[in-house]
Amino acid sequence: MTVNLLDFDLPAMEAWFASIGEKPFRARQVMRWVHRAGVTGIGQMTDLSRGLRESLEAAAQILPPAVKLDSVAPDGTRKWLLDVGAGNGIETVFIPEAARGTLCISSQVGCALECAFCSTGRQGFSRNLSVGEIIGQLWLANRALGADHAVGHRPVTNVVMMGMGEPLANFDAVVSAMRIMLDDHTYGMSRRRVTLSTSGMVPWMDRLRDALPVSLAVSLHAPNDELRDRLVPINRKWPLKELLAACRRYVEVASAAPDDDDAGAEPESPPRHVKWQRQGAPRDFITFEYVMLRGVNDTAVHAHQLVGLVGDLSCKFNLIPFNPFPDAGFERSTPEAILRFQGVLMEAGFVTTVRKTRGQEIDGACGQLAGQVQDRTRRAQRREQVVVRS
Ligand code: SF4
Repeated sequence: MTVNLLDFDLPAMEAWFASIGEKPFRARQVMRWVHRAGVTGIGQMTDLSRGLRESLEAAAQILPPAVKLDSVAPDGTRKWLLDVGAGNGIETVFIPEAARGTLCISSQVGCALECAFCSTGRQGFSRNLSVGEIIGQLWLANRALGADHAVGHRPVTNVVMMGMGEPLANFDAVVSAMRIMLDDHTYGMSRRRVTLSTSGMVPWMDRLRDALPVSLAVSLHAPNDELRDRLVPINRKWPLKELLAACRRYVEVASAAPDDDDAGAEPESPPRHVKWQRQGAPRDFITFEYVMLRGVNDTAVHAHQLVGLVGDLSCKFNLIPFNPFPDAGFERSTPEAILRFQGVLMEAGFVTTVRKTRGQEIDGACGQLAGQVQDRTRRAQRREQVVVRS
């Protein structure tokens, strides 16, 4: 049986080379060919001897997920629907902006966490993605966007683990994939340009802090436990007090972690508290994502509660106008409500952005393009039973 070279980070590649009786230093060479040069076959690795190429060809291949759909919106947003077998699809989205290009990557097929406003959460959960399926999304995007390391053309400057799934629920594979992103022999990304978004799996936030303190975004969506229990059910397990404490622990370690040169980074205003704590460390804060749901979590009272909740934590807010989908049961907040909410947070000194809606022509809500996953949680069945009984 052949292995998929995309499944290996550097230590795994070295171990595999040792297991087939080859010198471990070959691992670096092959990592560069696979990820930096983006080759599709071992035959293209011209600085390996013919004998080694032949033995590798018998034992390994480069196997990214198959592209089922590739669409580009008028604003340049590009979305791929990838086939991950058994009738399941995942989504990868590239968002080009003036000073950067951001790739949004999926980590699971579906999601088990059932956030009330989330299209993916409604579809159920099938399985975790492998390392190769996660890093394969970056590999595919680079090829499709014409990345060329030799001339310094790198269309993907930033990665956000914010697609389908809860990344910390697939911890080992996600961390391995992010190690490949950060590896100087491959994509060489700064940890500040790789962001993991979690709904708040507290013990795994601590594990991430210790293993690989990349930039962290937390899907907050509510300023109190009563409302968050409804919108983000994992809050019942790890309520806000525990979540905020984990955020503080994360910022302490992430602030101290060394980072490589982030030259070329777009100028960005540090959020409140960062200004006086650590000049020149623009990612040493948590980004709180907050979906704006009309009449549910978007009043000035909620905004004031948020200010009180985060206190002096180094953080910024990203307000996300809700993207409706069929039977969502929620509506998008009005532009006036979003502005009012933003005003309260900014008045309190927090950098607060409002996410632009991008690529709507190719996209409903996030996760819709993938369609129904092969749900192993029987969630849809349970929901139907509830509807029938009520
Ligand atoms: S918002 Fe994220 S964690 Fe929640 S159900 Fe959707 S994909 Fe899962």
